[in-house]
Amino acid sequence: MCAAASRNHLIDAVGIVKTYQINGRPVSVLKGIDFAVMEGEFVSVMGPSGSGKSTLLHILGCLDRPSEGQYLLDGIDTLAATDRELSRMRARRIGFVFQTFNLVPALTLYENVELPFLYTAVQPPLVRQRIETAISQVGLDHRMEHRASELSGGEMQRVAIARALATQPKLILADEPTGNLDTDTGRDILGLFQDLHRRGATIVMITHDPQVAEQADRCLRLKDGRWADIETE
Ligand code: ADP
Ligand code: MG
Repeated sequence: MCAAASRNHLIDAVGIVKTYQINGRPVSVLKGIDFAVMEGEFVSVMGPSGSGKSTLLHILGCLDRPSEGQYLLDGIDTLAATDRELSRMRARRIGFVFQTFNLVPALTLYENVELPFLYTAVQPPLVRQRIETAISQVGLDHRMEHRASELSGGEMQRVAIARALATQPKLILADEPTGNLDTDTGRDILGLFQDLHRRGATIVMITHDPQVAEQADRCLRLKDGRWADIETE
């Protein structure tokens, strides 16, 4: 499956089309996207609202399937995978961070970060160690037993990042992770992503903020379901 040309590509997507039925009519939201991401790269994706950014991220994260195209994740053909195989792939290889944090408010920080381990076979002592390490990495060790509902927005996003990285995924996908935060807090959160990147994480981040986007190795722009232009640093 793993062709020589794509050996170091964590993401290798070709000709991705996504068509929704909107008011009974087919509407193509993604119109043939090619997207390759090397292991260890930090790529940002910008584009106007409705341009298909979240749709693309959901496909990359195996939360949704394309209508057409080919998508190899870590050399594995995701289109040939069953839904069950896709769920396992997601749990083992991908960490998600969303704009709205998506924590369970009544659970503690620790319990929130523990959630993705329900879908892995990691042994309990190692689970505890990974959760504690992840929470410490985002600077919230002292709040481990606090409920998520007691946190500020910036702290919630830190927990969401800890949850995304605790399972040690190969790929971190973030959909406007600083979109609900004030500028200073957003900068702190971006700093965490940069730390992760320095430690070797592969990151694809959607953002509205050009200052956030330009921190990545590469910034791509979506427009009406196609790449608008490509800038490389
Ligand atoms: P962005 O994240 O760039 O704002 P999205 O990927 O969320 O854009 O959406 C792109 C377009 O696809 C929008 O017009 C949106 O209404 C439409 N869309 C997204 N998800 C669905 C869905 N499940 N069913 C129908 N249309 C959808
Ligand atoms: Mg979106």
